[in-house]
Amino acid sequence: MTDWSAIAAAIGNAGGGRVDPSTSRAVGGGCINRAYHLGSSPHAYFVKLNGRDRLAMFEAEAAGLEAMADTGTIRVPRPLCTGTAGAQSYIVMEYIALGRSGAHGAGEAGHQLAAMHLASRADFGWDRDNTIGSTHQPNHPEQDWVTFWGRHRLGFQLDLATRNGYGRRLRDQGERLLVALPALIDHAPVPSLLHGDLWGGNLGFDEAGHPVIFDPALYYGDREADIAMTELFGGFGGDFYAAYNEAWPLDPGYRTRKDLYNLYHILNHLNLFGSGYLGQAEGMLQGLLAQVR
Ligand code: ADP
Repeated sequence: MTDWSAIAAAIGNAGGGRVDPSTSRAVGGGCINRAYHLGSSPHAYFVKLNGRDRLAMFEAEAAGLEAMADTGTIRVPRPLCTGTAGAQSYIVMEYIALGRSGAHGAGEAGHQLAAMHLASRADFGWDRDNTIGSTHQPNHPEQDWVTFWGRHRLGFQLDLATRNGYGRRLRDQGERLLVALPALIDHAPVPSLLHGDLWGGNLGFDEAGHPVIFDPALYYGDREADIAMTELFGGFGGDFYAAYNEAWPLDPGYRTRKDLYNLYHILNHLNLFGSGYLGQAEGMLQGLLAQVR
Protein backbone atom coordinates (compact mmCIF):
# COMPACT_ATOMS: atom_id res chain seq x y z
CA MET A 1 0.00 0.00 0.00
CA THR A 2 1.37 3.38 -0.99
CA ASP A 3 0.95 6.19 1.51
CA TRP A 4 -0.24 8.82 -1.00
CA SER A 5 -1.19 11.20 1.80
CA ALA A 6 2.42 11.30 2.97
CA ILE A 7 3.63 11.91 -0.60
CA ALA A 8 1.01 14.64 -1.13
CA ALA A 9 2.15 16.28 2.13
CA ALA A 10 5.79 16.11 1.02
CA ILE A 11 4.84 17.80 -2.27
CA GLY A 12 3.25 20.64 -0.30
CA ASN A 13 6.29 20.95 1.98
CA ALA A 14 8.59 21.11 -1.03
CA GLY A 15 6.70 24.10 -2.44
CA GLY A 16 4.52 22.17 -4.87
CA GLY A 17 0.80 22.57 -5.31
CA ARG A 18 -1.99 21.00 -3.26
CA VAL A 19 -2.76 17.55 -4.57
CA ASP A 20 -5.57 15.19 -3.70
CA PRO A 21 -3.95 11.85 -2.70
CA SER A 22 -6.89 9.94 -4.18
CA THR A 23 -5.98 11.09 -7.73
CA SER A 24 -2.99 8.72 -8.05
CA ARG A 25 -3.13 6.42 -11.07
CA ALA A 26 -0.54 4.02 -12.40
CA VAL A 27 1.11 4.83 -15.71
CA GLY A 28 3.10 2.28 -17.70
CA GLY A 29 6.41 2.46 -19.43
CA GLY A 30 9.16 2.29 -16.81
CA CYS A 31 11.68 -0.55 -16.70
CA ILE A 32 12.89 -0.26 -13.15
CA ASN A 33 10.29 1.52 -11.04
CA ARG A 34 6.52 1.77 -10.72
CA ALA A 35 5.29 5.06 -12.15
CA TYR A 36 2.20 7.13 -11.27
CA HIS A 37 0.43 10.29 -12.26
CA LEU A 38 -0.68 12.30 -9.21
CA GLY A 39 -2.77 15.48 -8.96
CA SER A 40 -4.27 17.47 -11.80
CA SER A 41 -3.14 20.31 -14.01
CA PRO A 42 -1.55 22.77 -13.18
CA HIS A 43 -0.35 20.68 -10.23
CA ALA A 44 0.21 17.32 -11.88
CA TYR A 45 3.18 15.21 -10.83
CA PHE A 46 5.01 12.14 -12.08
CA VAL A 47 5.90 9.87 -9.16
CA LYS A 48 8.19 6.84 -9.27
CA LEU A 49 8.17 4.29 -6.46
CA ASN A 50 10.59 1.60 -5.43
CA GLY A 51 11.63 -0.17 -2.21
CA ARG A 52 12.74 1.94 0.72
CA ASP A 53 16.36 0.90 0.16
CA ARG A 54 16.42 2.68 -3.24
CA LEU A 55 16.14 6.21 -1.86
CA ALA A 56 19.76 7.03 -2.81
CA MET A 57 18.95 6.04 -6.42
CA PHE A 58 16.08 8.55 -6.51
CA GLU A 59 18.17 11.26 -4.82
CA ALA A 60 20.83 10.84 -7.50
CA GLU A 61 18.16 10.89 -10.23
CA ALA A 62 16.75 14.15 -8.83
CA ALA A 63 20.25 15.69 -8.75
CA GLY A 64 20.81 14.54 -12.35
CA LEU A 65 17.52 16.03 -13.57
CA GLU A 66 18.34 19.27 -11.76
CA ALA A 67 21.82 19.46 -13.31
CA MET A 68 20.42 18.93 -16.81
CA ALA A 69 17.56 21.38 -16.26
CA ASP A 70 20.04 24.00 -15.04
CA THR A 71 21.76 23.99 -18.44
CA GLY A 72 18.57 25.50 -19.92
CA THR A 73 19.01 23.42 -23.06
CA ILE A 74 16.91 20.30 -23.70
CA ARG A 75 13.73 19.96 -21.66
CA VAL A 76 13.75 17.55 -18.71
CA PRO A 77 11.14 17.12 -15.95
CA ARG A 78 11.93 19.40 -13.02
CA PRO A 79 12.33 17.26 -9.89
CA LEU A 80 10.42 18.38 -6.80
CA CYS A 81 11.27 16.02 -3.93
CA THR A 82 12.39 12.56 -2.90
CA GLY A 83 11.78 10.62 0.29
CA THR A 84 10.41 7.51 1.91
CA ALA A 85 6.84 6.68 2.87
CA GLY A 86 6.27 3.42 4.68
CA ALA A 87 8.09 0.60 2.89
CA GLN A 88 8.67 2.68 -0.23
CA SER A 89 10.97 5.36 -1.55
CA TYR A 90 9.79 7.88 -4.10
CA ILE A 91 10.78 10.66 -6.47
CA VAL A 92 8.29 13.35 -7.44
CA MET A 93 8.80 15.48 -10.52
CA GLU A 94 6.85 17.70 -12.85
CA TYR A 95 4.42 15.69 -15.01
CA ILE A 96 4.99 16.43 -18.68
CA ALA A 97 2.06 15.49 -20.91
CA LEU A 98 3.59 13.79 -23.91
CA GLY A 99 2.65 14.25 -27.55
CA ARG A 100 4.25 13.66 -30.92
CA SER A 101 7.39 15.13 -32.36
CA GLY A 102 6.84 18.38 -34.20
CA ALA A 103 8.14 18.63 -37.79
CA HIS A 104 11.51 19.77 -36.43
CA GLY A 105 11.49 17.81 -33.16
CA ALA A 106 14.36 15.45 -33.94
CA GLY A 107 16.53 18.29 -35.24
CA GLU A 108 15.71 20.33 -32.16
CA ALA A 109 16.77 17.39 -29.99
CA GLY A 110 20.12 17.20 -31.83
CA HIS A 111 20.80 20.93 -31.44
CA GLN A 112 19.73 20.99 -27.81
CA LEU A 113 21.74 17.91 -26.86
CA ALA A 114 24.86 19.47 -28.41
CA ALA A 115 24.18 22.61 -26.32
CA MET A 116 23.82 20.48 -23.18
CA HIS A 117 27.10 18.74 -23.98
CA LEU A 118 28.82 22.15 -23.96
CA ALA A 119 28.26 22.26 -20.19
CA SER A 120 31.67 21.29 -18.83
CA ARG A 121 33.87 21.16 -15.76
CA ALA A 122 37.48 20.33 -14.87
CA ASP A 123 37.30 16.55 -14.53
CA PHE A 124 35.43 13.46 -15.69
CA GLY A 125 32.88 11.82 -13.39
CA TRP A 126 30.52 13.58 -11.02
CA ASP A 127 30.09 14.61 -7.38
CA ARG A 128 28.05 11.52 -6.60
CA ASP A 129 27.53 7.97 -7.75
CA ASN A 130 24.25 7.00 -9.39
CA THR A 131 22.71 4.01 -11.16
CA ILE A 132 22.52 2.75 -14.74
CA GLY A 133 19.34 0.72 -14.97
CA SER A 134 19.44 -0.58 -11.42
CA THR A 135 23.22 -1.19 -11.42
CA HIS A 136 25.50 0.99 -9.30
CA GLN A 137 27.41 3.51 -11.46
CA PRO A 138 30.59 4.89 -9.86
CA ASN A 139 31.46 8.47 -10.83
CA HIS A 140 34.71 9.03 -8.92
CA PRO A 141 36.29 12.08 -10.61
CA GLU A 142 39.38 11.56 -12.77
CA GLN A 143 41.47 14.06 -14.72
CA ASP A 144 42.06 11.58 -17.50
CA TRP A 145 39.24 10.19 -19.64
CA VAL A 146 40.97 6.89 -20.50
CA THR A 147 41.47 6.24 -16.78
CA PHE A 148 37.83 7.09 -16.07
CA TRP A 149 36.43 4.87 -18.82
CA GLY A 150 38.78 1.99 -17.99
CA ARG A 151 38.32 2.05 -14.24
CA HIS A 152 34.79 3.28 -13.56
CA ARG A 153 32.95 2.08 -16.65
CA LEU A 154 34.38 -0.97 -18.47
CA GLY A 155 36.52 -2.23 -15.56
CA PHE A 156 33.63 -1.91 -13.10
CA GLN A 157 31.21 -3.87 -15.33
CA LEU A 158 33.84 -6.49 -16.21
CA ASP A 159 34.51 -7.10 -12.50
CA LEU A 160 30.78 -7.41 -11.93
CA ALA A 161 30.52 -9.90 -14.81
CA THR A 162 33.29 -11.98 -13.24
CA ARG A 163 31.46 -11.93 -9.90
CA ASN A 164 28.29 -12.92 -11.75
CA GLY A 165 30.09 -15.98 -13.12
CA TYR A 166 30.55 -14.97 -16.78
CA GLY A 167 33.71 -16.96 -17.24
CA ARG A 168 37.25 -16.72 -18.23
CA ARG A 169 36.98 -15.80 -21.91
CA LEU A 170 35.14 -12.54 -21.19
CA ARG A 171 37.57 -11.69 -18.41
CA ASP A 172 40.65 -12.35 -20.55
CA GLN A 173 39.27 -10.32 -23.46
CA GLY A 174 38.33 -7.55 -21.02
CA GLU A 175 41.79 -7.42 -19.49
CA ARG A 176 43.37 -7.13 -22.94
CA LEU A 177 40.92 -4.39 -23.89
CA LEU A 178 41.72 -2.33 -20.80
CA VAL A 179 45.43 -2.45 -21.72
CA ALA A 180 44.57 -1.34 -25.28
CA LEU A 181 42.33 1.56 -24.22
CA PRO A 182 44.85 4.38 -24.80
CA ALA A 183 45.26 3.20 -28.41
CA LEU A 184 41.49 2.96 -28.96
CA ILE A 185 40.57 6.27 -27.36
CA ASP A 186 42.85 8.30 -29.60
CA HIS A 187 41.28 11.70 -29.16
CA ALA A 188 41.15 14.19 -26.30
CA PRO A 189 37.53 14.81 -25.26
CA VAL A 190 36.53 17.57 -22.85
CA PRO A 191 34.27 16.60 -19.93
CA SER A 192 30.71 17.14 -21.21
CA LEU A 193 27.57 16.90 -19.13
CA LEU A 194 26.04 13.65 -20.37
CA HIS A 195 22.59 12.13 -20.00
CA GLY A 196 24.39 8.81 -19.61
CA ASP A 197 21.55 6.44 -20.60
CA LEU A 198 20.28 7.97 -23.82
CA TRP A 199 18.40 5.16 -25.52
CA GLY A 200 15.23 5.84 -27.53
CA GLY A 201 12.92 5.10 -24.58
CA ASN A 202 14.39 8.07 -22.70
CA LEU A 203 13.52 10.59 -25.43
CA GLY A 204 9.98 11.89 -25.85
CA PHE A 205 8.19 15.01 -27.09
CA ASP A 206 5.93 17.31 -25.13
CA GLU A 207 2.50 18.37 -26.37
CA ALA A 208 4.03 21.27 -28.29
CA GLY A 209 6.29 18.79 -30.12
CA HIS A 210 9.52 19.82 -28.34
CA PRO A 211 11.97 17.14 -27.16
CA VAL A 212 12.13 15.95 -23.54
CA ILE A 213 14.65 13.52 -22.07
CA PHE A 214 14.01 11.35 -19.00
CA ASP A 215 15.76 9.15 -16.51
CA PRO A 216 19.42 10.24 -16.62
CA ALA A 217 22.50 8.35 -15.43
CA LEU A 218 24.37 11.65 -15.50
CA TYR A 219 28.12 12.22 -15.36
CA TYR A 220 30.71 14.33 -17.15
CA GLY A 221 32.36 12.38 -19.96
CA ASP A 222 33.11 12.11 -23.66
CA ARG A 223 29.98 13.30 -25.49
CA GLU A 224 30.51 10.45 -27.95
CA ALA A 225 29.32 8.08 -25.22
CA ASP A 226 25.84 9.69 -25.36
CA ILE A 227 25.77 9.68 -29.17
CA ALA A 228 26.92 6.06 -29.30
CA MET A 229 24.05 5.01 -27.07
CA THR A 230 21.49 6.76 -29.29
CA GLU A 231 22.65 4.36 -32.01
CA LEU A 232 22.61 1.21 -29.87
CA PHE A 233 18.87 0.57 -30.00
CA GLY A 234 17.99 3.17 -32.66
CA GLY A 235 15.08 5.58 -32.82
CA PHE A 236 16.72 8.99 -33.17
CA GLY A 237 16.69 9.41 -36.96
CA GLY A 238 18.85 11.20 -39.51
CA ASP A 239 17.64 14.72 -38.66
CA PHE A 240 18.87 14.28 -35.11
CA TYR A 241 22.44 13.44 -36.18
CA ALA A 242 22.54 16.13 -38.88
CA ALA A 243 21.49 18.77 -36.35
CA TYR A 244 23.93 17.54 -33.70
CA ASN A 245 26.82 17.62 -36.17
CA GLU A 246 25.81 21.04 -37.41
CA ALA A 247 25.94 22.38 -33.86
CA TRP A 248 29.10 20.56 -32.78
CA PRO A 249 30.67 18.15 -35.29
CA LEU A 250 31.82 14.81 -33.91
CA ASP A 251 35.56 14.14 -34.00
CA PRO A 252 37.01 11.91 -36.72
CA GLY A 253 37.22 8.36 -35.45
CA TYR A 254 33.87 8.40 -33.63
CA ARG A 255 32.73 5.33 -35.62
CA THR A 256 35.61 3.25 -34.27
CA ARG A 257 35.08 4.42 -30.68
CA LYS A 258 31.34 3.86 -30.78
CA ASP A 259 31.52 0.16 -29.87
CA LEU A 260 33.92 0.90 -27.05
CA TYR A 261 31.29 3.13 -25.49
CA ASN A 262 28.33 0.86 -26.21
CA LEU A 263 30.16 -2.13 -24.76
CA TYR A 264 29.53 -0.57 -21.34
CA HIS A 265 25.78 -0.79 -21.83
CA ILE A 266 25.93 -4.31 -23.24
CA LEU A 267 27.99 -5.45 -20.25
CA ASN A 268 25.42 -3.77 -18.01
CA HIS A 269 22.63 -5.63 -19.83
CA LEU A 270 24.58 -8.85 -19.35
CA ASN A 271 24.88 -8.15 -15.63
CA LEU A 272 21.23 -7.09 -15.30
CA PHE A 273 19.39 -9.42 -17.65
CA GLY A 274 21.64 -12.46 -18.07
CA SER A 275 23.58 -14.56 -20.51
CA GLY A 276 21.49 -13.59 -23.57
CA TYR A 277 23.94 -10.69 -23.90
CA LEU A 278 27.13 -12.73 -23.50
CA GLY A 279 27.64 -13.46 -27.21
CA GLN A 280 27.11 -9.80 -28.11
CA ALA A 281 29.57 -8.63 -25.42
CA GLU A 282 32.23 -11.13 -26.53
CA GLY A 283 31.69 -10.22 -30.19
CA MET A 284 32.13 -6.51 -29.46
CA LEU A 285 35.27 -7.20 -27.44
CA GLN A 286 36.67 -9.31 -30.25
CA GLY A 287 35.97 -6.58 -32.81
CA LEU A 288 37.63 -3.95 -30.66
CA LEU A 289 40.68 -6.09 -29.95
CA ALA A 290 41.05 -6.78 -33.69
CA GLN A 291 41.53 -3.03 -34.21
CA VAL A 292 44.67 -2.93 -32.07
CA ARG A 293 46.42 -6.04 -33.35
P1 ADP B 1 12.12 3.97 -15.07
O1 ADP B 1 13.09 4.68 -14.16
O2 ADP B 1 11.24 3.04 -14.34
O3 ADP B 1 12.79 3.34 -16.28
P2 ADP B 1 11.45 6.36 -16.59
O4 ADP B 1 11.90 7.53 -15.80
O5 ADP B 1 12.34 5.93 -17.72
O6 ADP B 1 11.14 5.11 -15.65
O7 ADP B 1 10.00 6.69 -17.15
C1 ADP B 1 9.29 5.75 -17.91
C2 ADP B 1 8.47 6.47 -18.97
O8 ADP B 1 7.53 7.33 -18.34
C3 ADP B 1 9.29 7.39 -19.87
O9 ADP B 1 9.81 6.69 -20.98
C4 ADP B 1 8.29 8.44 -20.28
O10 ADP B 1 7.52 7.99 -21.37
C5 ADP B 1 7.40 8.55 -19.06
N1 ADP B 1 7.84 9.66 -18.17
C6 ADP B 1 8.98 9.75 -17.47
N2 ADP B 1 9.04 10.88 -16.77
C7 ADP B 1 7.89 11.53 -17.03
C8 ADP B 1 7.35 12.79 -16.61
N3 ADP B 1 8.01 13.57 -15.76
N4 ADP B 1 6.14 13.16 -17.08
C9 ADP B 1 5.47 12.35 -17.94
N5 ADP B 1 5.92 11.17 -18.38
C10 ADP B 1 7.12 10.75 -17.94
